[in-house]
Amino acid sequence: MSERISTQLLAGAPARDQILDSLRTRIVQAGSPTITLATVLVGDDGPSKRYVASKHKTAAEVGIGSVQVDLPAATTQQELNEVVARLATDSTVHGILVQMPLPNHLDAEQVLRLIPADKDVDGLTSESLGRLVRGLPGHVGCTPLGVLRILEHYKIATAGQHAVVVGRSTLVGYPLSVLLARKGIDCTVTLAHSRTEGLDEICRSADILISATGIAHSITAQHIQPNAVVIDVGISRTENGIVGDVDPEGAMGRARALTPMPGGTGIMTVACLMENTVNAAVLQGVRV
Ligand code: NDP
Repeated sequence: MSERISTQLLAGAPARDQILDSLRTRIVQAGSPTITLATVLVGDDGPSKRYVASKHKTAAEVGIGSVQVDLPAATTQQELNEVVARLATDSTVHGILVQMPLPNHLDAEQVLRLIPADKDVDGLTSESLGRLVRGLPGHVGCTPLGVLRILEHYKIATAGQHAVVVGRSTLVGYPLSVLLARKGIDCTVTLAHSRTEGLDEICRSADILISATGIAHSITAQHIQPNAVVIDVGISRTENGIVGDVDPEGAMGRARALTPMPGGTGIMTVACLMENTVNAAVLQGVRV
């Protein structure tokens, strides 16, 4: 048994507020240029509506304008493609976000192909992922970027550290593994997934362990090296409320630091969307 240590909780709120405050100041200091985020929501899924509403509310709070395109659930692929294509060529729109998931009859790939990389504030298109790999200016997905911003906010050293990322989706795990390995961040990265053998041992070799599988409480004490930093990205809705991938009982007293769930990484996503929107405006010639 290793000795119990005091585990620091890495709350998302202070990191989020720092990002939003600095964006607000930056926009005001630039003379409040017009920056516009467009969202496209198809159907009336409750959680999606709430996510989109919070994006517009936060945009207004930092001085970013926004337009909201709400389409009925029965929208055809062609209708959706036309809306996105129009936003793509509209020079007054700097960022485009199509709320995922789309209803089953719609093909997200077709839609993503229509979003120019400079306007792809969700960082989901092939061009954005390619720019990430090549280290070119562009947008990193809001969830991977949020993880990086939490590490930075709490001054967690990354250079030379072994980061293990569990989960390899193109939304979270894969881009996060590339981001952490980027020059300047400099982690040595292992990317684990459902076919990984000896997952617990691999996780135990991590200085920074990040789980993004959506399997509630699957990361236990046996996955955590004493003194590791543990970042919980997974979100599972249970009858006891939202829980993460990390079993807090296993992590507290063992990890050096842990993001709570809820209250950790999830909070960062909207702030990083705002950061990407301001960067999108810069990429399109706005001085901010
Ligand atoms: P996906 O379902 O697309 O990907 C899950 C990944 O976990 C896959 O790569 C899968 O491996 C891997 N996995 C599944 N089971 C295991 C296992 N037993 N051992 C190791 N790896 C496993 O999910 P997302 O990436 O979209 O989301 C992951 C989680 O993050 C979800 O809970 C989601 O709700 C949450 N999320 C949180 C956000 C936040 O802001 N905090 C934002 C976005 C998502 P394989 O590829 O082999 O199938």
